[in-house]
Amino acid sequence: MNDDALLRYSRQIFLPQVDIAGQEALIAARVLIIGVGGLGSPVAQYLSAAGIGHITLVDDDAVELSNLQRQVIHTEQSMGVNKALSAQQAIHALNSTVIVEAITHRLDANQLAQAVKSVDAVIDCSDNFATRSGINKACFNAGVPLISGAAIRFEGQLSVFDFRQQGGACYACIYQVEHDNALNCAQNGVLSPVVGVVGTHQALEAIKVLCGIPSRLTQTLGLFDGLAGTWRYLNLKPDPNCALCQSKVV
Ligand SMILES: [Zn+2]
Repeated sequence: MNDDALLRYSRQIFLPQVDIAGQEALIAARVLIIGVGGLGSPVAQYLSAAGIGHITLVDDDAVELSNLQRQVIHTEQSMGVNKALSAQQAIHALNSTVIVEAITHRLDANQLAQAVKSVDAVIDCSDNFATRSGINKACFNAGVPLISGAAIRFEGQLSVFDFRQQGGACYACIYQVEHDNALNCAQNGVLSPVVGVVGTHQALEAIKVLCGIPSRLTQTLGLFDGLAGTWRYLNLKPDPNCALCQSKVV
């Protein structure tokens, strides 16, 4: 690490849980952020500011006026621009030492599997069940940690699926196909900082995963209630009927 990096990251290197070794792990790390909207904005901002060395952003949407209320990495100038490209520019302005790749189309199952294989952690900031299920499957099969978040109205959800360890619950153990919630922000609304709370927490958990700091949120579903200002935690257990988990049982 050069002197600039030592100074830039000094406030987190001071933390014994991070130290030089942790910062070097962050700089060497590769992460995949899927969706650069309300959740992906703070994830991309904090992970790039913290010095994650290689970030791949995936989003096929363009920035619209109704996004700016909560998708804080984008600006009025980026309206009409693809979100992955807009965020790539913002990250470059924030931390030019980070290598940022922007993917502006949806990944099919094969492309997703390839993309997941080459990273150390995946942060799911997508907004629909089909994408979440596909990401879960790709991470499960590749043994790559998945930090999953969701937010709607005043409510948020967060979980870490550390597929480096076997035998835990996966996203599909909790959410079956028939539970496909058609909830989205366009129909149900979301309060601006609620996505910030969840996205910032996803970035925190990603850094812990990359530095080897134990997480309270593995095998746990964190539920944020923005009206009450509280979190509660549910323990997750693998579903013996989960088709994905069962596919690996020998
Ligand atoms: Zn499962």
